[in-house]
Amino acid sequence: MKIILLGPPGAGKGTQAKTLSEKLNLKHISTGDILRAAIKNNTPLGIEAKRFVESGGLVPDTLVTKMVAERISQPDVKEGFILDGFPRNIQQAESLDVFLKLQADLAVIYLDSNEKVLIQRLSGRRICQKCQAVFHTQNMPPKKEGICDSCGSALIQRPDDLEETIKNRLLVYKEQTLPLIEYYTARKKLMRVDSDKEPEAVIGEILKILKK
Ligand code: AMP
Repeated sequence: MKIILLGPPGAGKGTQAKTLSEKLNLKHISTGDILRAAIKNNTPLGIEAKRFVESGGLVPDTLVTKMVAERISQPDVKEGFILDGFPRNIQQAESLDVFLKLQADLAVIYLDSNEKVLIQRLSGRRICQKCQAVFHTQNMPPKKEGICDSCGSALIQRPDDLEETIKNRLLVYKEQTLPLIEYYTARKKLMRVDSDKEPEAVIGEILKILKK
């Protein structure tokens, strides 16, 4: 099965993808994670993508689409995968349709969330630069402030989680990604989940929907 998690920044795509990946035994492909790793490692892709990621804009389609095409053609995802962060506009969705040859086993889960909730989640998010574990200053604080529970490294705030950049990311989402709701509804692939709820309730709903 191929699953796309669609939704605004802060809707919980990464959190849900991680749990779903464990429960369904499907690989989690996060374009944001791939890009952040490329930036950290100063690869040619990372050097090109850096300014877009840090300003909260979209990395050009040609770069991201090639990156996804390469990843989903690998043997470990032949049986399926969970895409988190792609597609983010109509052009990317059309490219994905071509790669997947409009396959029937595609489910698009739309994580719908209130803007106030999104801003609260994003502005309090802290990540471990070493093992990528995710915390929140209020919703999921680490045992020791500023320190990762899993590996003991320092937690940081993603540069694109700063307030001004959050606003830009939400704007980019509304202008470019929101039209995908209609795109996948028209193709009868979209299923909506209320992601203002606690992560455990959201995953329960997603699993229920996927069983239908
Ligand atoms: P995320 O971790 O999904 O919030 O992505 C972080 C950033 O990576 C985004 O704000 C974009 O700058 C970039 N990015 C991730 N996925 C895509 C994509 N499909 N198209 C363009 N840019 C992307």
